[in-house]
Amino acid sequence: SVPAAITSGLSAGARHGLLIKGGAPLETMGTARVVAFDKTGTLTLGRPHVTDVVPLAGLPEPEVLRLAAAVEAGSSHPLARAIIGRAAPLGVPAATGARALAGRGVTATVDGRPYAVGSPRFAQETVGLPGNVPAQVQALEAQGKTVVVLTGEDRPLALMALRDEPRPDARDTVAQLRALGVQPVMLTGDNARAGQAMARDLGLEVHAGLLPGDKLRLIEGLRRTGRVVMVGDGINDAPALAASDVGVAMGGGTDVALDTADAALLHHRVAGVADLVRLSRATMRNIR
Ligand code: ADP
Ligand code: MG
Repeated sequence: SVPAAITSGLSAGARHGLLIKGGAPLETMGTARVVAFDKTGTLTLGRPHVTDVVPLAGLPEPEVLRLAAAVEAGSSHPLARAIIGRAAPLGVPAATGARALAGRGVTATVDGRPYAVGSPRFAQETVGLPGNVPAQVQALEAQGKTVVVLTGEDRPLALMALRDEPRPDARDTVAQLRALGVQPVMLTGDNARAGQAMARDLGLEVHAGLLPGDKLRLIEGLRRTGRVVMVGDGINDAPALAASDVGVAMGGGTDVALDTADAALLHHRVAGVADLVRLSRATMRNIR
């Protein structure tokens, strides 16, 4: 019967680390035309590490890291955690009034002065990036790195570059989806250069430089041509997860993503999304 097939599909999923919140997502997964992935924390490990610190205004490197970590103290973003981890042994001053700007960065006050840590685009829009600074940013991005800018006193104070490795099963997941006739795409708020370097490596197309609202509109556009599954982990992805036909959260992501999602992949296995497509198709065959 229908309920029995669904129930056994759900429990088969649970045994394999696929948490499915009810029959509807289980039924829909197998009909997906597109699976859209967030990059950071979904296709990548989400554990970037700081590779370069480039002071722009004479601040010594440890001071750059201490200030940046103070601004990021309240943020759970993977980039924030990397900077905080690197600065922890240096002693981090307290910040007040921290504010997160989704897809852009964080602002806060340290020692009575306002600072921000965010994307080069955000720095460009707020304090500007003079002279050869944009070229320095681009050179780091061409190495597949994500660049963030510490700004303060109405100018850029330093660049920090971070690198995040793809998950070991990311490339295979992309190949599995193609074999199932599903189109994989990557959505990222990260810059186009770093996004394209990773997309080429993993074998899928990419839409880069997206703000959370852009991700949402892209999902809505894709849905006009068929069912869309979105896989994400970040707080920024909650609107895109909600706008897709099936939102899938990477386990270990934020609670917001888990709450918004229709399904979750436990054990940090992104390949679970291909398992979900197969499980859905097998379940629906049992019903018919
Ligand atoms: P992704 O789509 O790769 O998950 P996000 O949408 O989370 O990326 O962020 C997009 C960009 O905004 C980052 O690459 C970074 O430049 C900037 N950014 C967002 N949050 C932060 C933060 N807490 N600290 C520094 N930069 C941030
Ligand atoms: Mg993200």
